[in-house]
Amino acid sequence: MLRIGLTGGIGSGKSTVSRLLADRGAVIVDADAIAREVVEPGTPGLAAIVETFGSAVLAADGSLDRPALAAVVFTDPDQRRKLDAIVHPLVRERAIEVAAAAPPDAVLVNDVPLLAETGQEASYDLVVVVVADPETRVARLVHRGLTAEDARARMAVQATDEQRRAIADVVLDNSGTPEQLAEQVERLWAERVAPEVG
Ligand code: ADP
Repeated sequence: MLRIGLTGGIGSGKSTVSRLLADRGAVIVDADAIAREVVEPGTPGLAAIVETFGSAVLAADGSLDRPALAAVVFTDPDQRRKLDAIVHPLVRERAIEVAAAAPPDAVLVNDVPLLAETGQEASYDLVVVVVADPETRVARLVHRGLTAEDARARMAVQATDEQRRAIADVVLDNSGTPEQLAEQVERLWAERVAPEVG
């Protein structure tokens, strides 16, 4: 098994890269999707969140009211740490389960938006970082429906591309066209992935 840690700032093109890798047969472990899964109604994760933040973070149907929770943690680092202390271990545990269920010759791609921020680079055989000019990322996020202000605010609380480059084994530059990105992914697969898994 080859474990790839894939990261990049919001709007850099991680999801696009992960789709291109899935097309080549990689098994994708999406940390954001898992982070949603571990706080679904009825989970110990959601129970722990309600215990810590109160039932004001629940929607009428008993699911997590994400905007309400975001409003609490966005401006308060202590609350943010409390939330991370609940969610991060659950995400890690679930990601380990998914990895354990993959075949031994699998290429496992862990899409981890906050890989650089959480210092998990040693868990992977290969760390792949997707970078793109900040203003290009803002434009793409606006195209995806965010406001420019919201996009910049989210980018501001993440690591910088310099910090991400520092932990990278391979950097994919997605400042160009989708075709240029696809070529880089093809090269990554041919030069770094295929030789490892045969
Ligand atoms: P992330 O997962 O890192 O947030 P995405 O892969 O979702 O980023 O890409 C952000 C947005 O930009 C998506 O709407 C995607 O389709 C678009 N996008 C990605 N790469 C390119 C590119 N090279 N040129 C134009 N648009 C792109």
